[in-house]
Amino acid sequence: MQPKQPTEQPHIETQLIRRRTAAGPHREQVTPLYMASGFTFPDAATARAVYAGEQPGYVYSRWEHPNGDELIDRLCALEGADAGIAMASGMAALFTALAGLLNSGDHVLAARSLFGATHLLLTTILPRWGISYTYADGEHIASWAEHFRPETRLCLVETPSNPGLGLVDLAALAELCRARGVTLVVDNTFATPILQRPIALGADLVVHSTTKFLDGQGRTIGGVALGDALLIKELTHFARQTGPSLSPFNAWLLSQALETLPLRMARHCQNALALAAWLETQPGIATVCYPFLPSHPQYELARRQMSAGGGLVAFELAGGLAAGRCFLDALGMSDIVANLGDARTTATHPASTTHSGLSEDERRATGITPGLIRVSVGLEHIDDIIADVAQALEVTADRG
Ligand code: PLP
Repeated sequence: MQPKQPTEQPHIETQLIRRRTAAGPHREQVTPLYMASGFTFPDAATARAVYAGEQPGYVYSRWEHPNGDELIDRLCALEGADAGIAMASGMAALFTALAGLLNSGDHVLAARSLFGATHLLLTTILPRWGISYTYADGEHIASWAEHFRPETRLCLVETPSNPGLGLVDLAALAELCRARGVTLVVDNTFATPILQRPIALGADLVVHSTTKFLDGQGRTIGGVALGDALLIKELTHFARQTGPSLSPFNAWLLSQALETLPLRMARHCQNALALAAWLETQPGIATVCYPFLPSHPQYELARRQMSAGGGLVAFELAGGLAAGRCFLDALGMSDIVANLGDARTTATHPASTTHSGLSEDERRATGITPGLIRVSVGLEHIDDIIADVAQALEVTADRG
């Protein structure tokens, strides 16, 4: 390996550990928690200048705070973004990205396979302010040209999608959007910027639920939007007045969590691929979906766009809904939760939880069949993960 030149940026693993808020008078080794609602000014003139944005400085933690800024600085380095904003949840980040940029009369073109709350935001909340939407098949971007309208202002996609793990060709979609002056927003929660960097592929904004792999230990709810500086400026104006800020405590935990993200993602992906490949060999399984399995319908795209397949595996038991329920009840070590991206292996039945707000037809259109199980593969030893799934499959087969 060639030694790095002193002028080059360190590797991203190093930046995620070493980029930090400047140490205070005690020269603490790790960034402390700035649990303060407001910040003092040395005099009235400075207060006026900082408040007016003429001079740098912190004002009030609804606006910004040092822990949030460290988190955003690290994530911008990771995503290749100019700027970003930290928010109280992934949904706050998505709502801010949409409501902060759109006006009454605007139209959103979105991939049909979206997280349940994002779907309800588009279909039940934004229409109240005259913002319309069209869903198109994210797996066939070539057909999207016909869906753009003169009033289309924004495209929204999730790749891989929750829970079906369908992919969207980001470079192809970015080209369609760029030609029409449409803003492309990508929810990168499932891949994380360790596996996929949408901005390098042409996206304008990236949104995350940091609740998932970025935290990685199931402790915090949070979200971020990252991307083009002018767009982030608009979102910042919207967020400062509407108040969906991330607390300093959650920002502090999240910033520390980023220090181990590359290591954690490597193990999540290794374990998930091993579980998916093993599931394919088991009787009683109708389908297994994992982006880095050659059987995934978009395997070529996955290999082009992502550096590994991610931590989620989706599969359908041959026995449908009844078998799905029996399987979840038979799990021993793995937890049944709606969350994902945790160090602990978790399993979810999307039709009755995360996507229960959709009608049966809507679920069917996005591949959420009654017996679909989503496993977020954790960091336990792979033999123990497979052993737990294997015994649950055996119980399911015996009762079947
Ligand atoms: N986007 C995706 C892909 C998700 O899976 C989720 C939550 O599961 C969200 C957004 C919403 O994030 P939060 O629960 O942090 O609001």
